[in-house]
Amino acid sequence: MPKPGPHGGELALIERIRHDSAQRFVQRRSRFLMLGIGDDCAILRPPAGHEVLVTTDFTIEGRHFRRDWHSPESAGHRCLARGLSDLAAMGAMPMAAFLSLALPRSCKKSWIDRFFLGLRALGDRFSVPLAGGDTAESPTELIFADITLVGTAPAGRALRRSGARAGDVLYVTGQLGGSAAELDLLPSGRGLRVRGGEEDKHPQMFPEPRLAVGEALLRRGLAASCIDVSDGLSTDLAHLCRESEVAAEVDEAALPIHPLAGKLVRETALRAALHGGEDYELLFTAHAGVRVPRRIAGVAITPIGRIVRARAGKAAVMLVRADGTRGELKPGGWEHFRGISV
Ligand code: ADP
Ligand code: MG
Repeated sequence: MPKPGPHGGELALIERIRHDSAQRFVQRRSRFLMLGIGDDCAILRPPAGHEVLVTTDFTIEGRHFRRDWHSPESAGHRCLARGLSDLAAMGAMPMAAFLSLALPRSCKKSWIDRFFLGLRALGDRFSVPLAGGDTAESPTELIFADITLVGTAPAGRALRRSGARAGDVLYVTGQLGGSAAELDLLPSGRGLRVRGGEEDKHPQMFPEPRLAVGEALLRRGLAASCIDVSDGLSTDLAHLCRESEVAAEVDEAALPIHPLAGKLVRETALRAALHGGEDYELLFTAHAGVRVPRRIAGVAITPIGRIVRARAGKAAVMLVRADGTRGELKPGGWEHFRGISV
Protein backbone atom coordinates (compact mmCIF):
# COMPACT_ATOMS: atom_id res chain seq x y z
CA MET A 1 0.00 0.00 0.00
CA PRO A 2 1.65 3.29 -1.06
CA LYS A 3 1.95 6.08 1.50
CA PRO A 4 -0.77 8.75 1.26
CA GLY A 5 0.17 12.08 -0.34
CA PRO A 6 -0.25 15.46 1.38
CA HIS A 7 -3.99 15.28 0.75
CA GLY A 8 -4.33 12.32 3.14
CA GLY A 9 -4.97 9.48 0.70
CA GLU A 10 -7.98 8.30 -1.30
CA LEU A 11 -10.11 7.03 1.58
CA ALA A 12 -9.64 10.16 3.70
CA LEU A 13 -10.40 12.36 0.71
CA ILE A 14 -13.58 10.45 -0.20
CA GLU A 15 -14.61 10.61 3.47
CA ARG A 16 -14.20 14.40 3.42
CA ILE A 17 -16.16 14.72 0.18
CA ARG A 18 -18.89 12.47 1.57
CA HIS A 19 -19.06 14.26 4.89
CA ASP A 20 -19.23 17.65 3.21
CA SER A 21 -21.96 16.44 0.83
CA ALA A 22 -24.07 15.05 3.66
CA GLN A 23 -23.94 18.46 5.40
CA ARG A 24 -25.13 20.37 2.37
CA PHE A 25 -28.54 21.89 2.19
CA VAL A 26 -28.77 21.11 -1.57
CA GLN A 27 -28.12 17.48 -0.79
CA ARG A 28 -30.81 17.13 1.86
CA ARG A 29 -33.34 19.29 0.05
CA SER A 30 -32.90 17.75 -3.42
CA ARG A 31 -36.17 16.64 -5.01
CA PHE A 32 -34.33 14.23 -7.27
CA LEU A 33 -31.63 12.57 -5.17
CA MET A 34 -32.79 9.43 -3.35
CA LEU A 35 -29.28 8.22 -2.44
CA GLY A 36 -26.03 10.18 -2.64
CA ILE A 37 -22.37 9.46 -1.92
CA GLY A 38 -21.48 6.29 -0.01
CA ASP A 39 -22.93 3.39 -1.94
CA ASP A 40 -21.89 1.80 -5.25
CA CYS A 41 -24.33 3.98 -7.19
CA ALA A 42 -26.37 7.08 -6.53
CA ILE A 43 -30.15 6.86 -7.04
CA LEU A 44 -31.98 9.66 -8.85
CA ARG A 45 -35.68 10.02 -9.49
CA PRO A 46 -36.79 12.27 -12.36
CA PRO A 47 -40.27 13.81 -12.13
CA ALA A 48 -43.12 11.95 -13.85
CA GLY A 49 -43.36 12.70 -17.57
CA HIS A 50 -39.71 13.80 -17.75
CA GLU A 51 -36.66 12.45 -19.55
CA VAL A 52 -33.10 12.18 -18.24
CA LEU A 53 -30.28 14.15 -19.92
CA VAL A 54 -26.61 13.30 -19.36
CA THR A 55 -23.44 15.20 -20.28
CA THR A 56 -19.77 14.72 -19.37
CA ASP A 57 -16.89 17.20 -19.63
CA PHE A 58 -13.19 16.84 -19.05
CA THR A 59 -11.27 19.50 -17.16
CA ILE A 60 -7.59 18.88 -17.79
CA GLU A 61 -4.80 20.92 -16.27
CA GLY A 62 -2.85 22.73 -18.97
CA ARG A 63 -5.80 22.40 -21.39
CA HIS A 64 -8.81 23.81 -19.56
CA PHE A 65 -7.12 25.59 -16.68
CA ARG A 66 -3.66 26.48 -15.41
CA ARG A 67 -2.77 26.41 -11.75
CA ASP A 68 -0.76 29.63 -12.19
CA TRP A 69 -3.72 31.46 -13.79
CA HIS A 70 -6.83 29.95 -12.24
CA SER A 71 -7.34 29.79 -8.51
CA PRO A 72 -8.47 26.38 -7.19
CA GLU A 73 -11.95 27.90 -6.63
CA SER A 74 -12.04 29.01 -10.26
CA ALA A 75 -10.97 25.55 -11.51
CA GLY A 76 -13.74 23.92 -9.45
CA HIS A 77 -16.32 26.46 -10.57
CA ARG A 78 -15.37 26.11 -14.24
CA CYS A 79 -15.45 22.33 -14.04
CA LEU A 80 -19.10 22.33 -12.90
CA ALA A 81 -20.08 25.33 -15.04
CA ARG A 82 -19.15 23.46 -18.24
CA GLY A 83 -21.57 20.64 -17.48
CA LEU A 84 -24.32 22.97 -16.26
CA SER A 85 -24.02 25.02 -19.45
CA ASP A 86 -24.68 21.89 -21.55
CA LEU A 87 -27.86 21.27 -19.54
CA ALA A 88 -28.84 24.93 -19.95
CA ALA A 89 -28.41 24.63 -23.73
CA MET A 90 -31.09 21.94 -23.79
CA GLY A 91 -33.40 23.71 -21.37
CA ALA A 92 -32.85 21.01 -18.75
CA MET A 93 -32.93 21.27 -14.97
CA PRO A 94 -29.88 19.75 -13.19
CA MET A 95 -30.52 16.78 -10.89
CA ALA A 96 -27.00 15.85 -9.74
CA ALA A 97 -23.29 16.08 -10.54
CA PHE A 98 -20.68 13.29 -10.51
CA LEU A 99 -16.97 14.03 -10.38
CA SER A 100 -14.08 11.75 -11.32
CA LEU A 101 -10.81 13.19 -10.10
CA ALA A 102 -7.24 12.12 -10.81
CA LEU A 103 -4.85 13.98 -8.51
CA PRO A 104 -1.07 13.94 -8.47
CA ARG A 105 0.41 12.63 -5.23
CA SER A 106 1.97 16.05 -4.64
CA CYS A 107 -1.36 17.91 -4.83
CA LYS A 108 -1.91 19.85 -1.60
CA LYS A 109 -4.98 19.31 0.58
CA SER A 110 -5.62 23.06 0.51
CA TRP A 111 -5.78 23.06 -3.31
CA ILE A 112 -8.30 20.21 -3.32
CA ASP A 113 -10.41 21.77 -0.56
CA ARG A 114 -10.54 25.09 -2.38
CA PHE A 115 -11.37 23.34 -5.69
CA PHE A 116 -14.38 21.76 -3.96
CA LEU A 117 -15.30 25.11 -2.39
CA GLY A 118 -15.57 26.67 -5.84
CA LEU A 119 -17.45 23.71 -7.27
CA ARG A 120 -19.90 23.49 -4.38
CA ALA A 121 -20.54 27.23 -4.22
CA LEU A 122 -21.81 27.10 -7.80
CA GLY A 123 -23.67 23.84 -7.10
CA ASP A 124 -25.41 25.43 -4.12
CA ARG A 125 -26.60 28.35 -6.24
CA PHE A 126 -28.21 26.04 -8.77
CA SER A 127 -29.34 23.34 -6.29
CA VAL A 128 -27.01 20.72 -7.75
CA PRO A 129 -25.83 18.11 -5.25
CA LEU A 130 -22.55 16.27 -5.79
CA ALA A 131 -23.91 12.71 -5.80
CA GLY A 132 -20.84 10.60 -6.54
CA GLY A 133 -17.65 10.18 -8.49
CA ASP A 134 -14.34 8.43 -8.46
CA THR A 135 -10.94 9.30 -7.06
CA ALA A 136 -7.62 8.10 -8.41
CA GLU A 137 -3.95 8.98 -8.26
CA SER A 138 -2.78 10.78 -11.39
CA PRO A 139 0.31 9.08 -12.84
CA THR A 140 1.61 12.54 -13.86
CA GLU A 141 1.91 15.92 -12.14
CA LEU A 142 -1.32 16.96 -13.86
CA ILE A 143 -4.84 17.20 -12.44
CA PHE A 144 -7.72 15.61 -14.39
CA ALA A 145 -11.34 16.23 -13.43
CA ASP A 146 -14.18 14.69 -15.39
CA ILE A 147 -17.62 15.92 -14.50
CA THR A 148 -20.92 14.26 -15.35
CA LEU A 149 -24.16 16.20 -15.06
CA VAL A 150 -27.52 14.49 -14.98
CA GLY A 151 -30.54 16.66 -15.70
CA THR A 152 -34.18 16.39 -16.51
CA ALA A 153 -36.62 17.95 -19.00
CA PRO A 154 -40.26 17.36 -19.95
CA ALA A 155 -40.41 14.34 -22.29
CA GLY A 156 -39.83 15.25 -25.93
CA ARG A 157 -39.30 18.95 -25.20
CA ALA A 158 -35.53 19.34 -24.66
CA LEU A 159 -34.02 22.06 -26.89
CA ARG A 160 -31.78 20.73 -29.64
CA ARG A 161 -29.17 21.99 -32.08
CA SER A 162 -31.23 20.54 -34.94
CA GLY A 163 -34.40 22.66 -34.73
CA ALA A 164 -33.36 25.80 -36.70
CA ARG A 165 -35.21 26.66 -39.93
CA ALA A 166 -34.56 29.26 -42.65
CA GLY A 167 -36.25 32.49 -41.55
CA ASP A 168 -35.46 32.01 -37.84
CA VAL A 169 -33.91 34.92 -35.94
CA LEU A 170 -30.57 34.16 -34.24
CA TYR A 171 -30.14 35.32 -30.62
CA VAL A 172 -27.40 35.25 -28.02
CA THR A 173 -27.65 35.70 -24.23
CA GLY A 174 -25.44 38.06 -22.22
CA GLN A 175 -22.21 39.26 -23.82
CA LEU A 176 -19.46 37.69 -25.88
CA GLY A 177 -15.69 37.81 -25.72
CA GLY A 178 -15.37 38.42 -21.98
CA SER A 179 -13.75 35.12 -21.24
CA ALA A 180 -11.03 35.42 -23.88
CA ALA A 181 -10.52 39.09 -22.95
CA GLU A 182 -9.97 38.26 -19.29
CA LEU A 183 -7.20 35.83 -20.25
CA ASP A 184 -5.71 38.46 -22.52
CA LEU A 185 -5.74 41.05 -19.72
CA LEU A 186 -4.44 38.65 -17.08
CA PRO A 187 -1.07 39.89 -15.80
CA SER A 188 1.36 37.34 -17.24
CA GLY A 189 2.39 34.61 -14.85
CA ARG A 190 0.12 35.79 -12.06
CA GLY A 191 -3.11 34.18 -11.02
CA LEU A 192 -6.10 36.30 -10.14
CA ARG A 193 -7.79 36.25 -6.75
CA VAL A 194 -11.46 37.05 -7.00
CA ARG A 195 -13.43 38.27 -4.04
CA GLY A 196 -16.84 36.74 -3.33
CA GLY A 197 -19.67 38.59 -5.10
CA GLU A 198 -17.38 39.82 -7.86
CA GLU A 199 -17.82 36.72 -10.01
CA ASP A 200 -19.85 38.44 -12.73
CA LYS A 201 -16.87 40.64 -13.52
CA HIS A 202 -14.78 37.56 -14.24
CA PRO A 203 -16.28 35.69 -17.19
CA GLN A 204 -13.16 33.57 -17.65
CA MET A 205 -12.59 32.69 -13.98
CA PHE A 206 -16.24 32.33 -12.97
CA PRO A 207 -18.47 31.85 -16.03
CA GLU A 208 -22.18 31.86 -15.35
CA PRO A 209 -24.18 28.95 -16.82
CA ARG A 210 -27.49 30.26 -18.24
CA LEU A 211 -29.75 27.64 -16.66
CA ALA A 212 -32.69 29.94 -15.92
CA VAL A 213 -32.68 31.26 -19.49
CA GLY A 214 -32.54 27.74 -20.98
CA GLU A 215 -35.40 26.56 -18.79
CA ALA A 216 -37.49 29.62 -19.68
CA LEU A 217 -36.84 29.17 -23.41
CA LEU A 218 -38.14 25.60 -23.14
CA ARG A 219 -41.06 26.33 -20.80
CA ARG A 220 -42.28 29.31 -22.84
CA GLY A 221 -41.74 27.52 -26.16
CA LEU A 222 -39.56 30.38 -27.47
CA ALA A 223 -36.56 28.61 -28.96
CA ALA A 224 -36.54 26.43 -32.07
CA SER A 225 -32.90 25.40 -31.56
CA CYS A 226 -30.16 26.08 -29.01
CA ILE A 227 -26.46 25.46 -28.30
CA ASP A 228 -24.11 26.86 -25.66
CA VAL A 229 -21.12 28.94 -26.73
CA SER A 230 -18.30 26.90 -25.23
CA ASP A 231 -15.88 26.82 -28.17
CA GLY A 232 -16.60 30.25 -29.70
CA LEU A 233 -19.55 31.74 -31.59
CA SER A 234 -18.12 30.93 -35.05
CA THR A 235 -17.50 27.29 -34.15
CA ASP A 236 -20.70 26.66 -32.19
CA LEU A 237 -22.91 28.40 -34.76
CA ALA A 238 -21.38 26.12 -37.42
CA HIS A 239 -22.37 23.12 -35.23
CA LEU A 240 -25.94 24.40 -34.97
CA CYS A 241 -26.11 25.01 -38.74
CA ARG A 242 -24.76 21.56 -39.52
CA GLU A 243 -27.23 19.79 -37.21
CA SER A 244 -30.14 21.85 -38.57
CA GLU A 245 -28.95 21.67 -42.21
CA VAL A 246 -29.20 25.44 -42.58
CA ALA A 247 -26.84 28.42 -43.02
CA ALA A 248 -26.63 31.64 -40.99
CA GLU A 249 -25.76 35.33 -41.26
CA VAL A 250 -24.27 37.22 -38.32
CA ASP A 251 -24.44 41.02 -38.11
CA GLU A 252 -21.12 42.22 -36.76
CA ALA A 253 -22.55 45.53 -35.50
CA ALA A 254 -25.21 43.71 -33.46
CA LEU A 255 -22.76 41.57 -31.44
CA PRO A 256 -23.00 42.33 -27.70
CA ILE A 257 -19.32 42.75 -26.83
CA HIS A 258 -18.40 42.18 -23.18
CA PRO A 259 -17.05 45.33 -21.45
CA LEU A 260 -13.78 43.50 -20.68
CA ALA A 261 -13.32 42.84 -24.40
CA GLY A 262 -14.21 46.50 -24.96
CA LYS A 263 -10.89 47.36 -23.27
CA LEU A 264 -8.99 45.65 -26.08
CA VAL A 265 -8.32 47.14 -29.51
CA ARG A 266 -11.38 46.76 -31.73
CA GLU A 267 -9.94 43.95 -33.91
CA THR A 268 -8.94 41.87 -30.88
CA ALA A 269 -12.29 42.50 -29.17
CA LEU A 270 -14.12 41.34 -32.26
CA ARG A 271 -11.96 38.24 -32.53
CA ALA A 272 -12.66 37.48 -28.86
CA ALA A 273 -16.43 37.80 -29.43
CA LEU A 274 -16.48 35.75 -32.63
CA HIS A 275 -13.97 33.03 -31.82
CA GLY A 276 -12.97 33.37 -28.15
CA GLY A 277 -15.02 30.65 -26.55
CA GLU A 278 -15.67 29.75 -22.90
CA ASP A 279 -18.32 32.47 -22.61
CA TYR A 280 -20.97 29.82 -21.88
CA GLU A 281 -23.72 32.02 -23.27
CA LEU A 282 -26.65 30.44 -25.11
CA LEU A 283 -26.99 30.80 -28.87
CA PHE A 284 -30.53 30.06 -29.99
CA THR A 285 -32.98 30.61 -32.83
CA ALA A 286 -36.68 31.46 -32.73
CA HIS A 287 -39.10 31.12 -35.59
CA ALA A 288 -40.00 34.43 -37.26
CA GLY A 289 -43.05 35.90 -35.55
CA VAL A 290 -42.15 34.52 -32.10
CA ARG A 291 -41.84 37.45 -29.71
CA VAL A 292 -38.59 37.02 -27.80
CA PRO A 293 -38.20 39.40 -24.81
CA ARG A 294 -35.09 41.61 -24.58
CA ARG A 295 -34.36 40.12 -21.15
CA ILE A 296 -35.04 36.66 -19.78
CA ALA A 297 -34.32 35.81 -16.13
CA GLY A 298 -32.40 39.09 -15.83
CA VAL A 299 -30.10 38.25 -18.77
CA ALA A 300 -29.95 40.42 -21.90
CA ILE A 301 -31.11 38.70 -25.09
CA THR A 302 -29.71 40.15 -28.34
CA PRO A 303 -30.73 39.36 -31.92
CA ILE A 304 -27.45 38.97 -33.85
CA GLY A 305 -28.50 37.58 -37.21
CA ARG A 306 -30.70 35.15 -39.07
CA ILE A 307 -30.94 31.61 -40.37
CA VAL A 308 -31.03 31.16 -44.13
CA ARG A 309 -31.25 28.19 -46.48
CA ALA A 310 -28.10 26.11 -46.90
CA ARG A 311 -26.77 26.14 -50.46
CA ALA A 312 -24.38 23.54 -51.84
CA GLY A 313 -20.89 25.00 -52.20
CA LYS A 314 -21.76 28.15 -50.17
CA ALA A 315 -20.36 29.04 -46.73
CA ALA A 316 -22.46 27.90 -43.77
CA VAL A 317 -21.93 31.14 -41.85
CA MET A 318 -21.52 34.63 -43.28
CA LEU A 319 -20.48 37.75 -41.39
CA VAL A 320 -22.20 40.99 -42.41
CA ARG A 321 -19.75 43.75 -41.46
CA ALA A 322 -20.74 47.16 -40.18
CA ASP A 323 -20.07 48.70 -43.63
CA GLY A 324 -22.42 46.19 -45.28
CA THR A 325 -19.69 44.05 -46.85
CA ARG A 326 -19.99 40.29 -46.36
CA GLY A 327 -17.44 37.58 -45.82
CA GLU A 328 -17.36 33.97 -44.77
CA LEU A 329 -17.15 33.46 -41.00
CA LYS A 330 -14.94 30.40 -40.73
CA PRO A 331 -15.05 28.39 -37.52
CA GLY A 332 -12.11 29.84 -35.59
CA GLY A 333 -12.86 28.70 -32.09
CA TRP A 334 -11.32 26.02 -29.99
CA GLU A 335 -10.93 22.55 -31.41
CA HIS A 336 -8.92 19.71 -29.91
CA PHE A 337 -6.70 17.75 -32.32
CA ARG A 338 -6.93 20.59 -34.86
CA GLY A 339 -4.81 19.63 -37.84
CA ILE A 340 -4.52 16.03 -36.75
CA SER A 341 -6.61 13.35 -38.42
CA VAL A 342 -8.17 11.11 -35.83
P1 ADP B 1 -16.45 2.06 -5.85
O1 ADP B 1 -15.09 1.49 -5.66
O2 ADP B 1 -17.56 1.13 -5.55
O3 ADP B 1 -16.60 2.76 -7.18
P2 ADP B 1 -15.47 4.30 -4.30
O4 ADP B 1 -14.73 3.78 -3.12
O5 ADP B 1 -14.69 4.75 -5.50
O6 ADP B 1 -16.59 3.22 -4.73
O7 ADP B 1 -16.39 5.52 -3.85
C1 ADP B 1 -17.17 5.46 -2.69
C2 ADP B 1 -18.25 6.50 -2.75
O8 ADP B 1 -17.65 7.78 -2.83
C3 ADP B 1 -19.14 6.36 -3.98
O9 ADP B 1 -20.47 6.70 -3.61
C4 ADP B 1 -18.58 7.38 -4.94
O10 ADP B 1 -19.58 7.85 -5.82
C5 ADP B 1 -18.06 8.48 -4.00
N1 ADP B 1 -16.92 9.21 -4.55
C6 ADP B 1 -15.66 8.77 -4.82
N2 ADP B 1 -14.88 9.74 -5.33
C7 ADP B 1 -15.65 10.84 -5.42
C8 ADP B 1 -15.42 12.17 -5.89
N3 ADP B 1 -14.25 12.58 -6.41
N4 ADP B 1 -16.46 13.05 -5.80
C9 ADP B 1 -17.66 12.66 -5.34
N5 ADP B 1 -17.93 11.44 -4.86
C10 ADP B 1 -16.95 10.51 -4.90
MG1 MG C 1 -14.02 3.64 -7.41
